[in-house]
Parts: sequence; C-alpha cells; structure tokens
Amino acid sequence: MLDTVSAGTPADIERAVAAAGRAFPLWRQVSAVERAHLLHGAAARMREHFDELARLLTLEEGKPLPENEEELDWSLNTLDYYAELGRHTRGRVLPSPAPGQLSLVLKEPYGVVGCIVPWNYPILLLIWKLAPALAAGNTVVIKPPSLTPLTILWLVEVAFSDFPPGVVNVVTGRGSEVGDALVTHPDVPVIAFTGSTAVGLHISRSTAGQMKKLHLELGGKDPFVIADDAPLDEALEAAVAYAALINAGQVCTSTERVYVPRAMYARFSEALAERVGRLRLGPGLEPTTDMGPMIGDSGRDLVAEHVADAVARGARVLAGGRRPPHLERGFFYEPTVLVDVDHSMRIMREETFGPTIPLMPYDTFDEAIGLANDTEYGLGACLYTHDARKVRRFYEEVRAGTIWINDPLTDNYAGPFGGMKMSGMGRELGEEGLEEFWQTKHVHWDIEGGSKNFWYPY
Ligand code: NDP
Repeated sequence: MLDTVSAGTPADIERAVAAAGRAFPLWRQVSAVERAHLLHGAAARMREHFDELARLLTLEEGKPLPENEEELDWSLNTLDYYAELGRHTRGRVLPSPAPGQLSLVLKEPYGVVGCIVPWNYPILLLIWKLAPALAAGNTVVIKPPSLTPLTILWLVEVAFSDFPPGVVNVVTGRGSEVGDALVTHPDVPVIAFTGSTAVGLHISRSTAGQMKKLHLELGGKDPFVIADDAPLDEALEAAVAYAALINAGQVCTSTERVYVPRAMYARFSEALAERVGRLRLGPGLEPTTDMGPMIGDSGRDLVAEHVADAVARGARVLAGGRRPPHLERGFFYEPTVLVDVDHSMRIMREETFGPTIPLMPYDTFDEAIGLANDTEYGLGACLYTHDARKVRRFYEEVRAGTIWINDPLTDNYAGPFGGMKMSGMGRELGEEGLEEFWQTKHVHWDIEGGSKNFWYPY
C-alpha cells in the first residue's frame, strides 16, 4: 500500500454540495474569459509539476511511466482545449416569428455537477468532466476512486488552487457510501460518471424519479477486425502492442476480441503468441517495463476465471494464461493469447478488463461485422484494412461510439467519445462534451408588446 486517505461520510458530501451550491451563483457570473484563464492556469501547473505527477500516478495506478505521461499530456491539453471552447458559442439568435420580436437560445449551466471516476485513468477521466463542466459555468463535487485518490487530491489542491472557494470540491470515500450520497443528493442535478455498467445501472435506478441528467461512460467489449488485405505485422502490432495490452488491458476501450480471416488465422496466432511472449513485465517505474501489474486481486481473479471458462469450453492458450512465477509482488498476469474461442465463452461476451487476446477466425466480412455487433456493449470498435469499401461498411454498420481504422485507441480532444447500447449515454470531449453541461433555454421576447388578435375574446 502506498498511502491511506480519510474515508469520507455522507455528511461530508452534504458539506461539499452546500459549498458548491453557494459558489455557483458567483461562478456562473464569472466571465468566460476569466474562466478560460483559470483553466489554462490549472494546465500550466500540471505542466510545471509534470514529472512529479507522472511518478505519483505510476506508483498508485501501476501502468508504465510512459503511459502515465501520455495520460497527463492528454489531460492538460484537454484543459487548454475547453478553456478556449468555453469562450465561444453561447446560444444563438433565431429568426423572429413576427416583426418586433426576438428569439434567443441561451445555454446555461446546471449548478452542481457530481463527478465520479474509476482508477484506471483517474486524471484523464476526471479532466474530461471537470474541464467542460467548469468552462460551462458549473461547480463540481468530485468523488475519487478509492484505489487511486492521490493524484486527484494533488490536482485539486495544487492545480486548481486559484479557483474561487467552493467551485472545485472533493470528498474521498467508498463509492457505496459517499458515491451513493453524491449521486442521490437532491441539489446535484448532473452526475458525470465513468465506471462499470453495473454501477452505472445502479445509479440510473437509485436516481429514478429525481429527473437528474445522467452522463454515463460505462464498460465495453471492443472488437478488433483484421481484414484480409491487412499487412500482418502492422495489424499484429496494433492489436497487441497497443489496443489489447495497454495498461494491462485495463482500458474501457481495450480490444477484448480479435477476428482474423481464416486463411491468416494460424500464421497470425503464432506470430502474435511469439510477440506477446517477448513483452517484459515489471513495475511501472522500471524503464524496461512494457506491461505493468493489474490494479488488484479481484480484477486478476476475473481474468483467470475467463481464461479457465474458455479453456473448459475448448479454447487453447498459445501464450501466457497464468501469473508470472518470477513476479511474486504486484498483481501481475501474463499477457495471454487464446485461440479456438467462440461466443459461448465468457471471454467473448463479458468485459474481462485484463491482458487477454482471444482470437477467432471468420470467413466473410459480413460474418466479421455480425460478430463485432454480437455484444450488449457498444463503446469502441477497431478495423485494420486499406480497403475503403470495408472501412465504409464498418463505420456504417458497427454499433459503437468510436470507430478506429488502423490506429486503435487514439482520441482527439475535438472528437466526441462515449458509448452506445450498454456502454452508456452522453459524450465526452469535443463540442458535445461541453453541451452536456449546459441546459438550453428559449427566450421569446416581443419588444414592443401590445395586444394580439388571437387573444380572448375569440
Ligand atoms: P466501478 O464502477 O466499480 O467504480 C467506478 C467509480 O464509481 C469509483 O469511483 C467507485 O468508487 C464509484 N462507485 C462505486 N459504487 C458506487 C455507487 N453505488 N454510487 C456511486 N459511485 C460508486 O468501476 P471500476 O473502478 O471497477 O472501473 C472499471 C470499469 O470502468 C470498467 O467497467 C471500465 O470499462 C469502466 N470504464 C469506462 C470508461 C468509459 O469511458 N466508458 C473509461 C474507463 C473505465 P470506489 O472506488 O470507492 O468503489
């Protein structure tokens, strides 16, 4: 264990929501330029302390240092992005229905936004909420993940220290206690949540009847389709080195299922197993580490269960499939390649959230699209091909919030991110990510006034 933090209580949530509520009327009046200034300032502080913060994130989350540097880079650039975007569009003026009338569409902040994020990308996922919520004029209460609260506490204390009191609040503690209290609080009209589909569903149920705006970024079971024209080496590196194994597979948009043309299947599987076998496991701060440990025992047990279930139903393990015997400390699990899998297996249906690559052969591109869509999730989907007709079919027919062609898991500050089906609702990043934190008001104004011929009496 690295450190301990206080376990907050619902009474702390009460105080934090009250502080955020008091700060809101003033914060919403702060000019958009001044808000932008403060957001740029938070990004600048993160840049100043970049190395210290990347190290802390590595110690508490476990993924290799370069992946945490990437997380921070993305986060501070997102702050800069929303600092600028928030200064722009603010509603519109509509053509008036009659002379002398004005119709205004206004964008207004909601008030207090509750932000809840998981441990796998705590800073990035928080900033994806915080930056647009604040830029839109809301105040926030954050509930950090219990497993990785330290970088978030640092962020609030150091990076956001110039913000007026009460605008950014944080309460540590258990999701089932303080998370629940935040989500169901009557003075918190918006919940911006990233986490599992199970907790997302719990939040929808526990807030039913409160008319809250729920912004839910949930789990996934992302497919990766290799087309028959794909250069084997490139596709293999994309699927292995990045999409399936980054952060030991603990990414919501990790590739969790790979579909390979039958004619390439044996060659691809063997080459992949060989490549995976060369990856170096170790602590995140070691410069030679390719893949770090998992976050904890329960996640690692789930991976082992999915592998065991697949093997019991006829799958074969070509690489990995166990805890590395030479690494006793840390929750390591070997990167694992499985073949002869099918959709009856848990590893092809449920989110595994670990370093596994199950490979399944297909005969036609139609079949590959059908397999990609055969899931209750719809977060992301990847395709490797240089055939434009296949690209078009894939992005038109696959039901997922993000489609990646030849460059898996690359986001864009301006590109909306979020899920379809059981992967959630709402979008982060881009203009859509800002819109989530505004409500729309229409003002109809007859400037001259005077009686109308359609009023009583008829
Ligand atoms: P959880 O859903 O268990 O936890 C996420 C957050 O919710 C944590 O801060 C947790 O607090 C809190 N929480 C738990 N119970 C409640 C509750 N009853 N009310 C309010 N908040 C609660 O997810 P994991 O931490 O296990 O994260 C992994 C999951 O997140 C995966 O399913 C992954 O796919 C998904 N995810 C989705 C992303 C997306 O953008 N779609 C991105 C990243 C991850 P505590 O830590 O105290 O339990």
